[in-house]
Amino acid sequence: MSSIFTKIINREIPSDIVFENETIIVIKDINPEAKTHLLIIPKKEIETINDLESEDTQLIADMFFVAKKVANDLWISEWYKLHFNVWKKWWQIVMHLHLHLLSNI
Ligand code: AMP
Repeated sequence: MSSIFTKIINREIPSDIVFENETIIVIKDINPEAKTHLLIIPKKEIETINDLESEDTQLIADMFFVAKKVANDLWISEWYKLHFNVWKKWWQIVMHLHLHLLSNI
């Protein structure tokens, strides 16, 4: 079953796309918790951090490099935080791995 993020990646539903390459898409969070709230999403369907395989090592590294690039492009590179939610019963609502990038700048 595809996640809502896969539907965004496949352009089946709209979203505000900030960056995209072959393996990663970055979108604006639809319900922002900060002035800047982006989601860095691998195109590969991985549910949570706990589902990572060793073959995903480069992909995870690339997610952080994309976070760094986007923060730099938005001139917030010294004022942001990154986090993954994992607790399925509460914090992680969309079961497709994503890295939150937040800044109040
Ligand atoms: P999490 O609690 O870590 O699973 O966070 C999921 C995030 O996805 C939330 O911050 C939502 O606001 C966001 N979200 C859900 N649906 C969409 C959507 N269609 N477009 C953009 N962001 C979304």
